[in-house]
Amino acid sequence: MSEDRSATDIFRLLADETRVDILRAVAVAQYELEQVGSGAAEPAFSEIYDHVDVENTSKLSYHLGELTGTYLRKSDDGYSLSHAGERIVRFILSGNYEQPEAFGPKPVDGVCVFCGEEALEAKRSHQFFRIDCTSCEQQVTGQPITPAQGRTRDSESLVQSVKLRSAEDARQIRRGMCPECGAQLSADVIAVPESPLPDADPFVVTSTCEECLREYNSPLTYSVVFHPASIAFHWDRGIDVTARALGVSRASLRGALDVSTDLG
Ligand SMILES: [Zn+2]
Ligand SMILES: [Zn+2]
Repeated sequence: MSEDRSATDIFRLLADETRVDILRAVAVAQYELEQVGSGAAEPAFSEIYDHVDVENTSKLSYHLGELTGTYLRKSDDGYSLSHAGERIVRFILSGNYEQPEAFGPKPVDGVCVFCGEEALEAKRSHQFFRIDCTSCEQQVTGQPITPAQGRTRDSESLVQSVKLRSAEDARQIRRGMCPECGAQLSADVIAVPESPLPDADPFVVTSTCEECLREYNSPLTYSVVFHPASIAFHWDRGIDVTARALGVSRASLRGALDVSTDLG
């Protein structure tokens, strides 16, 4: 982590409407210039000027100078977005700083991991897609969703997208990569004598990101079932565990995976 500039300094650079407009303009100009297979376009000064409502070129020049190094990169051809620029501008364009739209409660397929009843109901709660059991009244899962994820989908497609993202995240976590920031995760297996899950063993895999401080928990059984050796073992005996995971029990399976994280 670079300590040269404080986070406040970095965000203060954006406390100006013209600069936010410039980042947006770079993304729009890139989008217009890019062709399939051409790689990231580098809009020239004049192309950015065409997309920004700014008094004159010297004003634009000044603001571009302020953003360059943190949010933008400058080359002989033009400007492109840095990692921070990419993250911020996609966040702004997608409107992901808004509240996600309301959703549910809506009945979903699956079996409750706590009581075994088929009584699951999905809804949005703050930034989480939640599945609760109406029989034992426990929260079965809470997966973060983005406002754009909800806004661009109907409810069926939203459920699918939550499953997809969960599966992708789980795959990265198993391989030691933090889905949030990309840093290396450190994993540990801890014993939890009071496991609330009747069918799970009393061990939890806890993966911690020392960089962004995100923590991911999963019952050991669920962590090892998708290990390539386990997939192959089951495959040889006529069982496709990956397909099973995507079937009826998918929701409950994932539920146990993140329940402790999201309940905080
Ligand atoms: Zn239940
Ligand atoms: Zn992280």
